Amino acid sequence: MGTKGREIVGKHADRLIELLNKAFADEWLAYYQYWIGAKVVSGPMKDAVIAELMQHAADELRHADMVSSRIIQLGGTPVTTPKKWFDLANCGYEEPSDPFVRKILEQNIAGEQCAIGVYHAMLKETSGKDPVTSNLATLILQDEVEHEEDLQALQEDLKSMLRDRA
Ligand code: FE
Ligand code: FE
Ligand code: MG
Repeated sequence: MGTKGREIVGKHADRLIELLNKAFADEWLAYYQYWIGAKVVSGPMKDAVIAELMQHAADELRHADMVSSRIIQLGGTPVTTPKKWFDLANCGYEEPSDPFVRKILEQNIAGEQCAIGVYHAMLKETSGKDPVTSNLATLILQDEVEHEEDLQALQEDLKSMLRDRA
């Protein structure tokens, strides 16, 4: 824990750690949802979808790392067991039980839309109170916005492809 660094957030530290740990759980679940989705996905445009899912998985893992570093700076402990991920997560986990590309894309788009809401709320709650966490929320929010658009672009391509075939 950095003492002066923690001092500037004052009485908000515990609340920030709680918010960050919830986001941390979301990131791990998002990472795994993308990672396993890339393994099982099937259907048209599979290769393009796998490439995007794997990139996003890597981004979510990087987000988990960024969030955990901030928790530690604030004197907290990132959740130490996967068992707690489901209790803490804002966005949950959607099992890719149907491997068809359209379904996998839909599930991950829903996840990104939830993530955008989470980081937007974190940004609103921290701006003016904690510049470091608000900057972190901004950086991650930028990625989540990009992720949503990437997946929706693939969804559009898939739609026009299926339409052309019909
Ligand atoms: Fe993320
Ligand atoms: Fe994302
Ligand atoms: Mg992407």
